[in-house]
Amino acid sequence: MSAEYESVIGLEVHVQLKTKSKLFCGCPAEFGAEPNSNTCPVCLGLPGSLPVLNEQAFLYGIQIALALNCRVAGRLKFDRKNYFYPDLPKAYQISQYDQPLSSGGHLLVEMKEGQKKIGITRAHMEEDAGKLLHEGRAGSVVDYNRAGVPLMEIVSEPDIRTPDEAYAYLTALKAVLQYVGVSDCDMEKGSLRCDANVSIRPKGETRLGTKVEIKNLNSFSAVKRALQYEIARQIDAAEKGETIFQETRLWNDERALTLTMRSKEEAHDYRYFPEPDLVPFTVSSDWVEDLREDLPELPAARKERFVKDYGLSEYDASVLIQDKDLGNFFEECVTAGAPPKRASNLIQSELLGMLYERGETFHAMKTTAAGIAGLIRLVENGTISGRSAKDVLADMLETAKPAEDIVREKGLTQVSDETVIAEAAKKVIAANPKPVEDYKNGKEKSFAFLVGQVMRETKGKANPALANKVLKELLG
Ligand SMILES: [Zn+2]
Repeated sequence: MSAEYESVIGLEVHVQLKTKSKLFCGCPAEFGAEPNSNTCPVCLGLPGSLPVLNEQAFLYGIQIALALNCRVAGRLKFDRKNYFYPDLPKAYQISQYDQPLSSGGHLLVEMKEGQKKIGITRAHMEEDAGKLLHEGRAGSVVDYNRAGVPLMEIVSEPDIRTPDEAYAYLTALKAVLQYVGVSDCDMEKGSLRCDANVSIRPKGETRLGTKVEIKNLNSFSAVKRALQYEIARQIDAAEKGETIFQETRLWNDERALTLTMRSKEEAHDYRYFPEPDLVPFTVSSDWVEDLREDLPELPAARKERFVKDYGLSEYDASVLIQDKDLGNFFEECVTAGAPPKRASNLIQSELLGMLYERGETFHAMKTTAAGIAGLIRLVENGTISGRSAKDVLADMLETAKPAEDIVREKGLTQVSDETVIAEAAKKVIAANPKPVEDYKNGKEKSFAFLVGQVMRETKGKANPALANKVLKELLG
């Protein structure tokens, strides 16, 4: 980014709540059903049908608001957002306008430079629209299964300054939603969607520049790439003295650029008015406080606990808590007897990388927490070296066998017999006169080389500390 400009970013996230039925009718909210099979007069907007609020969706909405540190409104009111579109059979969407379910929250985001607090402007409930499918020559068709599915729209303050911060915010938000258990947060199924607002301004300027909204962002990394592109485009335009228009642009991931979609609507274009078919009602603050008490442990609290109880570094803890199940797996390893730091190291520096290379997800892997704890025990008690542990782990992921069996079958037991190591060391000394002489002349690096040769001679099985000691003695 140019040193003279800064970017100002706000994100709008739509998250689908995992209720069994839709927001205002009893139709199933499931994904992947036969097109238009999950519909009824209410979600098709037929005349005379009346919406009834889904209590579970309302409960999830409040849980999200609390988890994001928002104030919960004392009164629940819905509004009609009017616009015509083929996937919106009523020609309006039931949403919330001037009195959102919640507002004024924040989310703590982990950056390399430390924690950053991103404000949450509001989080409100609304129904989803249907889905248009463009099927080549046959023209476009519409599937109303998604019409009326419950969503929470979570709008951030324009507190985000870089594409990396946007990525970190989305990661943190997804983790919170997963921990609360209100959504499966699957971007591929559309249960988590994100639009980004971005503008630039000269550094030191406090007024906001003209913002552009970017849509069609299908992954967190697409959000990051689209923002990088758009910021560069706006700076380039500003430097050439061109006007930046307020508009909606679509991200094209294949071509890696944003293209104009339409000029941006203002709120008054939607002619919002109160939904007359849903009577506003008050929300008891005692009930809200009970829900607050019942919230599960959230990522930030869990991170603190991992640092405090297990002695992990802030960074290690933040990696482990990002995925709820990964955090659970780590704790299961500890419960199975693994020292926390060793378990954390093995998971982060070996296990996750190996799974990535194998194209496997952590959830489908063949080994268990008890299996990992068993492997760590073998390293701890000196049966195998740290180097062999990697090979054993790779085998565990392939065969699902316990570490002990693999070590026995492959003869990987660490050699701690001094005479065996001395034998190997003598061979190495005889075969490497030059490095031996260099070492005797004070070149420490040569010693590391010789230790490496002893390890090689013993096929990686020599106890490294012992190999050091024996070699040093032999070299006088
Ligand atoms: Zn319905």
